[in-house]
Amino acid sequence: MDDIILLKQGEIVLKGLNRKSFEMKLIANINKRLKPFGKFRIYAVQSTIYAEPQGDCDMDGAYDAVKTVFGLAAVSRAAACEKDKDALLETAKRYLGDELNRAKSFKVETKRSDKSFPMTSIQMSQYVGGELADAFPHVKVDVHNPEFTVHLEVRDYAAYVHGPSEAGAGGMPAGMGGRAVSLLSGGIDSPVSTYMIAKRGVSIIPVHFFSFPYTSELAKEKVIELARILSRYCGRMKLEIVPFTHIQEEIRAKCPEELFTIIMRRFMMRISDKIADYNDCKAIITGENLGQVASQTLEAMAVTEECAKRLVLRPVIGHDKREIVETAVKIGTFETSILPYEDCCTVFTPRHPRTKPRLDDVIKAESALDVEALAEEAFRQIKRIVIEA
Ligand code: ATP
Ligand code: MG
Repeated sequence: MDDIILLKQGEIVLKGLNRKSFEMKLIANINKRLKPFGKFRIYAVQSTIYAEPQGDCDMDGAYDAVKTVFGLAAVSRAAACEKDKDALLETAKRYLGDELNRAKSFKVETKRSDKSFPMTSIQMSQYVGGELADAFPHVKVDVHNPEFTVHLEVRDYAAYVHGPSEAGAGGMPAGMGGRAVSLLSGGIDSPVSTYMIAKRGVSIIPVHFFSFPYTSELAKEKVIELARILSRYCGRMKLEIVPFTHIQEEIRAKCPEELFTIIMRRFMMRISDKIADYNDCKAIITGENLGQVASQTLEAMAVTEECAKRLVLRPVIGHDKREIVETAVKIGTFETSILPYEDCCTVFTPRHPRTKPRLDDVIKAESALDVEALAEEAFRQIKRIVIEA
């Protein structure tokens, strides 16, 4: 019989009255994610979601894709069969035979939501366990510490057999937590910070500040690739590319060198705020990390944030580089992040940046510029690129 994908809902089961809308969002997200792999019927019973292929589907592709959907605690592939003890046994032999041949010990665990089924869960586990032990004589039954567990589920409409499940992506369904702008450079940190907030259910609008020709077309391609990797988790996104060259040239020509970075970062905040206004975003996300570079002291971050009208989230603020790298490797952005193209920050980096800038000094320095006109000009020239995994 058919192979099917079983998905366990994560934290959203704790949401009480909101639970239904969380579940609907999650199912819609799974639907979108599975579309490229064929037609699936997706429905929830209690806290399990079933993705049932309708006709020819790419089950390997679908299973991989579903592992990156936020809101799922666990995923497994299962074989569906008739609700009959011998059908379950035969399915277990066929579907999990390779694993049983490899394992040294096993047990059977049964869940039964159909209370009219003639055997109890314990009777089912004993029956199927005993028969499997006969059929695979080299593998021992061990109910306390088995190397491999055969799961049987007797549901209302069908029965399922599966091996151990794998961890899902965790977090909350994308889109449940509103929307935020995320500042995406080509570095290691900002893809991780974007991922972390997306994981909590926030839809992301990635924004990149681009200083052509000081930074190359390749640097932009790198950011597009990072956004594409992130879209495996975040779904379809619109990457906003902000032309930043004129602003940087103006800063360099008219402001004190030691304040270049902080003034540039304040422009990033102003423009991100405009994008956020336009897209009804509640927050701005950055990959800033305390103490990492001159612009990431408490003083510098306070001065940067002063010109943002909304909440600024810095999810990796207290992480060590090692921890950030670990996440970057896990989500698949690390290899791209370390490609050696300059980002716009490094091109105009002052020799001795001020690590403890004072707001009044910075505002005074900015008075040499037509701040609002420059920000508005960059905002008007934004290019949008649709990103899909
Ligand atoms: P990252 O590794 O993410 O580039 P970083 O340690 O290099 O971070 P900075 O270059 O000071 O730190 O940038 C801090 C944060 O500012 C970045 O994490 C990112 O959120 C944002 N940022 C920096 N440069 C850009 C850019 N060109 N476009 C968009 N966001 C940027
Ligand atoms: Mg950087």
